Amino acid sequence: MAKLLDKQRYKCALGAMQTVQAIERALPILHSGPGCAQKLSESVGSSGYFSPNIFPCTSINEKDVVFGGVKKLNSTIENALKVIDADLYVVLTGCIPEIVGDDSGEVVSRYEDADKPVIYAPTAGFKGNNYKGHEQIINAIVDQYLEKSDTKQKGLVNIWADVPYQDLFWLGNLRELEKLVSELGLTPNTIFGYRRGIENIKKIPKAEFNLLVSPWVGLSCVKKMERKFGTPYLHYPTLPIGATETSKFLREVGRFAGVDDAKVEALIKEHEDYYYYLIERYADLFLENRVINKQFSVVADAQYALGITKFLANDLGLIPAKQFIVDDTPANYRDKIEEEFKKLNYGVEASVSFETDGYRIHEEIRNHDYHGYPLVLGGYYEKEVTEQLKGNFLNVAYPVQDKVVLDDSYVGYTGGIRLIEDIYTVAVSRFN
Ligand code: SF4
Repeated sequence: MAKLLDKQRYKCALGAMQTVQAIERALPILHSGPGCAQKLSESVGSSGYFSPNIFPCTSINEKDVVFGGVKKLNSTIENALKVIDADLYVVLTGCIPEIVGDDSGEVVSRYEDADKPVIYAPTAGFKGNNYKGHEQIINAIVDQYLEKSDTKQKGLVNIWADVPYQDLFWLGNLRELEKLVSELGLTPNTIFGYRRGIENIKKIPKAEFNLLVSPWVGLSCVKKMERKFGTPYLHYPTLPIGATETSKFLREVGRFAGVDDAKVEALIKEHEDYYYYLIERYADLFLENRVINKQFSVVADAQYALGITKFLANDLGLIPAKQFIVDDTPANYRDKIEEEFKKLNYGVEASVSFETDGYRIHEEIRNHDYHGYPLVLGGYYEKEVTEQLKGNFLNVAYPVQDKVVLDDSYVGYTGGIRLIEDIYTVAVSRFN
């Protein structure tokens, strides 16, 4: 029987047009109905050189369902190449062409010799959500555009993390990860955001290793690159937020890359000294506030639920109530992610629920005894329920409507400090 999903936190796989948009001068070409792009393009911060309103779209209709939409797809690609100046053209297919059996791959293969690369990714909504769609885009680039390299560039590391636009902090988070990796003496390579794009895509096969910072999104991609390019990968499941996790991150990446231990420890010391200097100055506030918020819940995708839970428990000494992962994590990854929630300092463990239904999440939050006001970090949907419980709320995950994010970040030592500032700004303002 059909089920209703209350307060959905993701889009269909075609929403990965935003992953393409995050690659500078890459253009999505949509082979879908006209309503798809309209529905998927409500994001904040997505205007620019190419924005969803100008993405070429076949806008297929009833006639194309009967007779097929390949002719329209062909002319749309042909005209996009003529009139839109891009570095990479990515055809994304929606539900209708895939249900009626359009061979989009064959149409795209006609452009093998075009001046600019044209590739395609099957992103019908029934194939999964935009987290899976994001993987389809990376896999399409690897399969259809890149070739194995005979040479490797010493110290070059591809960094994969975050789903652009789905996470409003994607740009700042990636830049901070790049900064941390550079401080280890390595050369980071990312493909999303300002001045990255096609030139960085070309470097992917030359990297010494892939660094995946994500509980599960992107794992299939780094495995594919290992098979195709022989590039080993380091899977670091936790988004490093704050000193405890960032120092662990630097040690693990440093060890994997063969960086001298003394160099890594010196770097960690420099960062931690400043981090704890800041914490020490505000220790009175944190201790006082811990009395107000004894327990917390995070309602977010696996990346933030895990990263923030570790940060609040390990760095701030808060006690986790139940945590909610809302990205429809595929079943085969869940056990491993659950184990990570048990690896908190001081022997603390967090229970976690993979739940996509907002109604059920809110019922659990309402019925849990937080031993005082709850602290809830989640999507905007959690604001009302937290306010009803007189708790403290911070909007960190999709949908974000409480904050404008240009290049802010919650990653690293600096990101941990930013998150502390945001949480305690909410906490202290209740006494105004
Ligand atoms: S689920 Fe299918 S029809 Fe709906 S927006 Fe996504 S691709 Fe379009």
